[in-house]
Amino acid sequence: MKFDVDKDGYYGNFGGAYIPEMLYPNVEELRLNYLEVINSSSFKEEFDSLLTHYVGRPTPLYLANRLSEFYKTSIYLKREDLCHTGAHKVNNTIGQIILAKRLGKQKIIAETGAGQHGVATATVCALMGMECFVYMGEIDIERQKPNVERMRLLGATVVPAKSGSKTLKDATNEAMRHWISHPSNTHYIIGSVVGPHPYPDMVTRFQSVISKEIKIQLREQTSSEIPDYVVACVGGGSNAAGAFYHYLDDESVKLIAVEAAGKGNETGQSAATTVLGKAGVLHGSKTLLMQTEDGQVTEPYSISAGLDYPGIGPIHAHLFETGRVTFESVKDDEAMIAGMQLCKLEGIIPAIESAHALAILDKVKFKKEDVVVLNLSGRGDKDLDTYINWKENSI
Ligand SMILES: *Cc1c(COP(=O)(O)O)cnc(C)c1O
Repeated sequence: MKFDVDKDGYYGNFGGAYIPEMLYPNVEELRLNYLEVINSSSFKEEFDSLLTHYVGRPTPLYLANRLSEFYKTSIYLKREDLCHTGAHKVNNTIGQIILAKRLGKQKIIAETGAGQHGVATATVCALMGMECFVYMGEIDIERQKPNVERMRLLGATVVPAKSGSKTLKDATNEAMRHWISHPSNTHYIIGSVVGPHPYPDMVTRFQSVISKEIKIQLREQTSSEIPDYVVACVGGGSNAAGAFYHYLDDESVKLIAVEAAGKGNETGQSAATTVLGKAGVLHGSKTLLMQTEDGQVTEPYSISAGLDYPGIGPIHAHLFETGRVTFESVKDDEAMIAGMQLCKLEGIIPAIESAHALAILDKVKFKKEDVVVLNLSGRGDKDLDTYINWKENSI
């Protein structure tokens, strides 16, 4: 397909594998094996079976009637919020753990900021009986107590990263160090379409089940598998990559990616990478990232922990540069209002990440006959406190 990664791991000008030499054998082992393993029929069988019986796929594609009436167009919600563990992230962790097992690994490491990817990783490690170490900044451990407790309950060891700013960046560094010193028995599960090649491509393939299902479900419900729009929020970009994937080559489908603008793109408190970022190297790949004049990565901000990331995956940098995907950005308040609106109109409490995607329904003018598919990446149970605090402070 036109937007697939090339043989060197690039999407146009972005991607590649910018890694320390000591990590080369680990990444090379994956690069040489991942396609053969994940394209084998026995892998596909195991992956599909777990997605069906464990995750609960296919997730529904639901015509949101009252929301559609409100916006005077047809809006279908792809219900990733109904996946086991409450978001799309588990599609990827299931895929990677099956791959790890087939490559003979016994241990899994991961890093997490908000804890969502840590929980999805701890979940599949319990499922497969594999040892799990989740690296997390000491400050994040304090900020994300419920997810830390979930990981521990699931049997994972949460390893505090005590260096630097004691947040995600430092957790990533320490996880990398662990991986370098245990190359033969450990697999590193990355949680989005980021990191050195082959991770962005591998994660995209695992998440592409989302658009594969949308096509089938849309054909059943509307007699055409082709919508006018597909909309998804972007942190690193895995749910968006999955929701767009099988539509990338069909230019008649308009694709909209929604980034978090925090308190506003001009305030210095934002996570909208395509607005504020420039090309650079982040977490092992060349991509767009938010940085200072002299190339220091700047601290992103969003009310939503899952979108609070200073870059985007290289596939999205390329989709942005080529204009195949339109990027919009949505502020905290706009997302909170849209999220609460979905609660009242449809009886669905969305993750605040997903609420960013919902907020563009107010910004883009859709026609009455348009079919809009919006990827509802996760549920909002984890965000209850944030919703309640925001509501109290905004009245
Ligand atoms: C982690 C997360 C995101 C952001 O990650 P992507 O890789 O951009 O999909 C979005 N929504 C939810 C519910 C999440 O947990």
